Amino acid sequence: MTVRLDGKPVAEATDRRTRDAIRDRPGAPTPTLASVHRDVDSPFRFYVRRQRSAAESLGIAFREVSLGPDDPPAALRDRMRSLDDDPSVHAVLLEHPLPDPLDFFAAISSVRPEKDVDGVGAANLGRLVAQRPTHIPAVARAAVAIAQHYRLPIEGVPVTVVGRSETVGLPLALCLAARRTGMNATVTLAHSRTTDLARALAGATTIFSCVGRPGFLDRSVVPEGAAVIDVGLSSVPDPAARGGSRAVGDADAVSLDGWAGALTPVPGGVGPVTVAELMSATVRARDLQAATGGSS
Ligand code: NAP
Repeated sequence: MTVRLDGKPVAEATDRRTRDAIRDRPGAPTPTLASVHRDVDSPFRFYVRRQRSAAESLGIAFREVSLGPDDPPAALRDRMRSLDDDPSVHAVLLEHPLPDPLDFFAAISSVRPEKDVDGVGAANLGRLVAQRPTHIPAVARAAVAIAQHYRLPIEGVPVTVVGRSETVGLPLALCLAARRTGMNATVTLAHSRTTDLARALAGATTIFSCVGRPGFLDRSVVPEGAAVIDVGLSSVPDPAARGGSRAVGDADAVSLDGWAGALTPVPGGVGPVTVAELMSATVRARDLQAATGGSS
């Protein structure tokens, strides 16, 4: 039997802690998250809607900052600078990837690390490598939170992360390999140049898939009994679905059913936990700035 690793109870537990953290500081400024995104239809827009509704339900102020479809790099730079300078904004999230000539990494790295709430700027990634992070990407925290909630073996055992982007797979691999109780995993990092994926996955007790290719992981490569945390999120056409498309993960759920030991569903797995982790990090960002005198 393949156990379904539902994200909902994990997200609810994170939200409870976030509410407590807000309640514990009644006189503190309202935690405020600014989400910067292009004013075009993109998968990120769906994520922004989820951010807004999560923020509103938790008492976090949410500001959308739109970039025009033809905004030049200087306009992005100015927006990031003004959010960085604004003491009422505690957390800044920037859509990625951004099209050329906009430089996502340069833009997010221009924000102070306490406000880079998704931990993807140069300072926070460097701190993650040095194991002194300010913020860790919400998606990496979410994948780890699910593994911990369902008590999947991590400590000392072989796990494989598939996908090595600087915003998802690589930080997740660093988290899993960190010298920290509950982590200390023996991590294999696979990617598009991996010559034998089945071999990279063989022996893994847990597989974290961060690729973005629908149905890519099936029983031809996943070892029997392994747990699969499906971080991948793609949209596929489906005339029967509202809006004509539906969200799918990297895992071929039909092939893995009865084969994998456990699997996160898509939707309803890593996605809701990522949003909950982002909200939690926003409150932490406010508290960090209050502690360093950088908040209003
Ligand atoms: P990305 O930048 O496109 O990176 C994809 C990674 O997959 C790359 O490292 C790539 O390898 C690797 N890859 C591509 N084809 C492969 C193959 N055939 N075999 C092995 N590895 C392969 O994407 P991303 O931004 O990291 O996002 C990854 C997925 O996570 C996407 O589906 C995204 O939507 C999803 N995501 C989900 C959440 C959530 O909350 N659930 C949050 C963020 C992202 P190379 O490095 O060699 O190119």
